[in-house]
Amino acid sequence: MAALRYADASRLHEGGPVMRKVGLLRAWGRILTGRYPSLSIEITRECPLRCPGCYAYEPGHLGAAGPLRTLADYSGKELVDRVLDLVHRHDPVHLSIVGGEPLVRYRELEILLPLLGAMDVSVQLVTSAVRAIPRSWRDIPGLDVVVSIDGLQQEHDRRRAPATYDRILTNIEGHSITVHCTITRQMANRVGSFVAFLSFWSGREEIRQIWFSFFTPQVGSGDDEILSPAMKADALAELARLRPHYAKLCLPDRLISGYRSPPATPADCIFARTTACFSSDLKTAVSPCQLGGKPDCARCGCMASAGLKALGDVRLAGILPLRAIYESSDRIGRAQRRRRMSRRTEPRAIATYESRR
Ligand code: SF4
Ligand code: SF4
Repeated sequence: MAALRYADASRLHEGGPVMRKVGLLRAWGRILTGRYPSLSIEITRECPLRCPGCYAYEPGHLGAAGPLRTLADYSGKELVDRVLDLVHRHDPVHLSIVGGEPLVRYRELEILLPLLGAMDVSVQLVTSAVRAIPRSWRDIPGLDVVVSIDGLQQEHDRRRAPATYDRILTNIEGHSITVHCTITRQMANRVGSFVAFLSFWSGREEIRQIWFSFFTPQVGSGDDEILSPAMKADALAELARLRPHYAKLCLPDRLISGYRSPPATPADCIFARTTACFSSDLKTAVSPCQLGGKPDCARCGCMASAGLKALGDVRLAGILPLRAIYESSDRIGRAQRRRRMSRRTEPRAIATYESRR
């Protein structure tokens, strides 16, 4: 499941719970030591869906490495061992498991997810819920299952068959999941679509929270899914108006502000700079961010990017923006990393990732 996706951006700027602050401090520690606090893995190149606008299967997604479907792809014990090796080497605070469709590898995930939970890595698994999500996953500490749903039933079922509404409802039974909706032009154009979406999913006991992000095109693309700036502004205004009526809708003011002014370039994007993304061969870097290719930052609707942009704009004591602290910490971390690389003590996966970015 490719289309976007991240828990921590929304959590980081909510403030409050001690665990979230601990997570932030751990992430900061990784930055200071020149490591990536967040790791993202396309765990398989396979997916039974063919969603329009899917970035993972765009020909340019992996640049010179070629299309995702031509990359190496592991299964069984080899996949489990290789993923654990990558996680050990990067030692992230947070791991996103995307695809392809991760549930294609559900047997391997049955082994991996509890191990990652025991390692205190918070995991976000992004899926289309095209098959049943194992019940045992509900009790894995730190696991957040995010199900991607593209609009109301009629539109979603057309775009995402065979992962239809009916199938999703059956496959999430007994779980506590996050619904993630990527807003497309088609959805934004339909009067009353946000109310209908929120009413439908809020009423389900399996749904813990509801996220919205926006379709992010590649540079120069004219995809049907792209919203005009005015449509995006209207959608944000309507969702802000609806927020008090739907407790499960997670859309803090800071996230709205992040959506309104995305980073200008990948170099300005804290999310891109703090997340190491690997494709299905577990070697090829997906860059400049999880979207790959040449994403159009000016039209970015990525929730993680918006959340971290907004967090970076927060001013400590009303004066010093957090971004300035991040930049200083990043400089220290990069120097540390250069020293490790010159002494050849940098873990192989990090050095390889750096050389390919
Ligand atoms: S479900 Fe498959 S085709 Fe659809 S967006 Fe995700 S990876 Fe792409
Ligand atoms: S701002 Fe650019 S680099 Fe960052 S997530 Fe969006 S498209 Fe990717």
